Order: sequence, then C-alpha cells, then structure tokens
Amino acid sequence: MSRPRVAVIGAGLTGLATAWWLRDDADVVVFDAAERVGGQVRTIELADRPLDVGADALLARQPEGETLVRALGFDDDDLVAPATGQVHLWTRGRLRPLPQQTVMGVPTDLRALARSGVLRPLELARVAVEPLVRRREVAGDRSVGDLIGERFGSAVVERLVEPLLGGVYAGDTDRLSAEAATATVWAAAQRPQRSLSAALRAHRAETPPADGPVFLTLRGGLTRLVDRLCSELGDRVRAATPVRAVVRSGSGWQLHLDDRIEEMDAVVVAVPAPAAAALLAEPVPEAARELAGIRMASVGVVALAYDPADAIDAPQGSGVLVPRGEGRLTKAVTISSRKWPHHADGGAFVVRASVGRVDDTRALDLDDATLAERVDAEVRWALHLRGPAVERTVVRWPRALPQYDVGHRARVDRVRFALEAADARGLHVGGASFDGLGLSARARDAQGLADAVRETVATGL
Ligand SMILES: Cc1cc2nc3c(=O)[nH]c(=O)nc-3n(C[C@H](O)[C@H](O)[C@H](O)COP(=O)(O)OP(=O)(O)OC[C@H]3O[C@@H](n4cnc5c(N)ncnc54)[C@H](O)[C@@H]3O)c2cc1C
Repeated sequence: MSRPRVAVIGAGLTGLATAWWLRDDADVVVFDAAERVGGQVRTIELADRPLDVGADALLARQPEGETLVRALGFDDDDLVAPATGQVHLWTRGRLRPLPQQTVMGVPTDLRALARSGVLRPLELARVAVEPLVRRREVAGDRSVGDLIGERFGSAVVERLVEPLLGGVYAGDTDRLSAEAATATVWAAAQRPQRSLSAALRAHRAETPPADGPVFLTLRGGLTRLVDRLCSELGDRVRAATPVRAVVRSGSGWQLHLDDRIEEMDAVVVAVPAPAAAALLAEPVPEAARELAGIRMASVGVVALAYDPADAIDAPQGSGVLVPRGEGRLTKAVTISSRKWPHHADGGAFVVRASVGRVDDTRALDLDDATLAERVDAEVRWALHLRGPAVERTVVRWPRALPQYDVGHRARVDRVRFALEAADARGLHVGGASFDGLGLSARARDAQGLADAVRETVATGL
C-alpha cells in the first residue's frame, strides 16, 4: 500500500510541527511562500548575540509547546526561564509596577492596585465599588472593553487591560472578544458571584498555579526550534514555493504551484487568515468568506543594543507596557538583558520595543531610520538610559496578528462547519487565526491537525 501524500501549506510553527508529527505516517511536504521559513519565529544577530524579533517565549503553562521542544531533543541546558517577571507600566508620567494579583489586567487585590499608583484616587474608588455594580446580562460574547469597563471603569481597561492585550493582539479593547481573548476573565464572568474580582479569586483558589516557570525560551533563540524541525524534515520543506490554489481532484486535492500541479490525499492549510481565505475560495467559499472577515494587525519590532555603562540606572524588570493613551509610538519594551539570564552577560544591554496596533499605524508609516531614532529616544527616557543605542534594527511584521474580535469563537465554528458541509474530506485548516496565537497553542493545534489527517487518510485508503 502506498503511503498517503499530505501537503502542509505554511512553514510557520503550526505547519512545521504538523508535518513533523506526521513524518512517519505519510509522505508529507511543507510549502512556504517565503525564502525564510519559520513565519513569525525569527532570530537575528544584534550586538553579536542572537535576539528573537518575533515570538520570544513560549507559555510553559500550556504544555504542548514544551512537549514539542523536548520531543525534538532539547533539554534543560537549552531551555531558559525568565530571570524576572516584574513588568512595569509607563503611565501617569513614570514607570509604575504592574500590580500583583491581576488577571489579564483585571484587579483582584485593591490594596496592591492602590500601591502601584496606576490609578488616580477616583478611579480606584470606582474599582472599589465593583461588587455593588449591577451585572448587565448580555447574551453571548461581548467586547473586553465592554465587559471589564462596566465592572471596573474605563481606567482599568485603558491603563491595565489594553496594554497587556496590546502585547498579544495589538488590538482594540472595544472590538476584541472577551470570550476568545480573555478566556479566564470570561469564564469567571459566567460564575454566580456578583463581583468579577471575587469570581477571579475563587477561580484562582480552585486552580492553584502549576510548579515551574510561566514562560520558557531557547538559549540561542527560538529559530533553533524551526531549524531543528527543518533539519528533521529535510527536503520535505520547500521554501520560496507559494501555493496558489487548492482544488478538489477525485477523492483528493490538487495543489497549484507556480510551475506545476501536485496531487495530494490530504492538505493542511496553516497560513494566516487572509492567505487561507484565498486558498479556500474555490473549494469552500463559505469558509473563505468567514476567514476574510478576520482583521489583521501589522506590528514591528525595534531591536536596540546599548552600552551597558549607559544602562546602570535601568529598572530591574522584564519589560514595560505603554497604554495607548500615553500617545507614544512604543507599545511595549522587552528588556531582554534583564528578562533572560542568557542575555545578561554584560556585553551589551539589549531591548526590543514593539510598535503598531490594528488601528494605529503612526509608527509603521515612518521609514526605518526615523522609527528607530524615535523609539530609541522613548526607550532611553523610559529606562533612564544615559546614551543612544549603539545598534538599531527594525523588523516589520505586516498583517501578522489576527484580531479575535467579538464573535470570534462562533466564526471559527462556522469555518469548521462549512468545511464539513462542503464535505471537504482531507482538507484541514489551522494556524494562529483560529484557537490561540501563542507558540504553545500553535504546537497544540499541530498535534490536533496531525491526528485529524491521520484519521482521514487512514480511513480513506
Ligand atoms: C512580533 C511578534 C511577537 C510575538 N511574540 C510571541 C511570544 O513571545 N510568544 C508566543 O507564544 N507568540 C508570540 N507571537 C505570536 C506567534 O509568533 C505566532 O502566532 C505564531 O508564530 C504563528 O504561527 P503560524 O504557524 O500559525 O503562522 P505564521 O508563523 O504566520 O506562518 C505562516 C506561514 O505561511 C506562509 N504562507 C502564507 N501564504 C502562503 C501560501 N499561499 N503558500 C505557502 N505559504 C504561505 C508564510 O510565509 C508563513 O511562513 C508573536 C508574534 C509576533 C509577530
């Protein structure tokens, strides 16, 4: 019996990991449009050291990411946990510690919130009366800003929740889905407690945190993960090979490439929503229409290296978040030399600043040199650095981050339903536009996609 032929479209983490899990069960080939595979995982050299300029950590509390890394042979010597988890907010004129005991920025400890100085007295008083605020019953999903603003007032949304979500989605709290983007808060809001703070405290009491670090990364950069997947998959990974169309062909699928057509038994589409919409337009137009409705945020990273002598007054903490109301170009700063022990060698003080929001392109409209200059100045001011960066690199991520807008979960369900209704057997869809942007969510998705492919090809042959 011949082995099933499976195409994976997209060599980001989702696609590469899916192919890797399938490598013994099928003749699998991964196609990527870009010259460089890995999608939003990319490590560059800055000040003679590797620095991640896409994803820089995987969430260890979601185990599938670490499982994949270890299954690929990485061990404790390769994995690094952050040296500090202290995050600051740049708000009300200076850096203030992100209050302890918040869940996605939602406060559960009024005293800790007061101590942080993030809110003004009247705004704090508004938080204090949260248990007395009548709960509005809303059927179905609602925006993060609506749910949390109603309970705690708009200052909590603007100065705590938006900066935290901004780092993940570069989104707009008035449109992001509470159900999809703040799942723990959403689950707590479904509990009987009148106070959302109390519900979150009860939730936390029932689910004590697991041992071990919250985040992990790889010494030498996360590109090592991509490189390891690629070296194990060998010539099954084809870079610079865009897939132009997916077309039904008997019981299988045809892949239209620039110079040829390839026949496949199964296809996994693991590309961002706009590209997935284009590929599904012919075989499953209903799913394509839904995917085309997912908005994408363009973001950028400005990697900066400073002379360590200029950084002696820099705060001890892993990063700084900047609420949009502050009007800065910089949205967040990862202080890599403080966050990661392997960057703390004293040779250079390295930070990465993030810019760009779905509805704010001021930063990305600038040319690289101007953007780097202006972000450098903001970072210098915020971190009390004594001189300008000695090295600066801008990396742009156009239309990279999918927006989980209100109704996102229902939209994803409609895509899956459309695939079933069209009897698109052997055609599978995944990637960050569906069930989680983080690398650990991508690794989990990959396992699920590989299982689904195995099931269809096994029963189809
Ligand atoms: C700046 C930044 C920082 C981030 N930080 C973190 C972090 O710290 N932790 C974390 O967990 N996550 C982080 N993320 C999110 C995470 O990196 C992504 O969600 C994840 O890498 C997406 O993986 P993916 O495989 O689904 O898609 P992608 O990585 O987008 O890969 C999709 C691939 O599909 C290819 N493609 C598109 N169209 C076609 C076509 N027609 N034919 C063939 N190939 C095609 C593209 O070239 C691309 O390589 C960050 C993202 C960014 C941009």
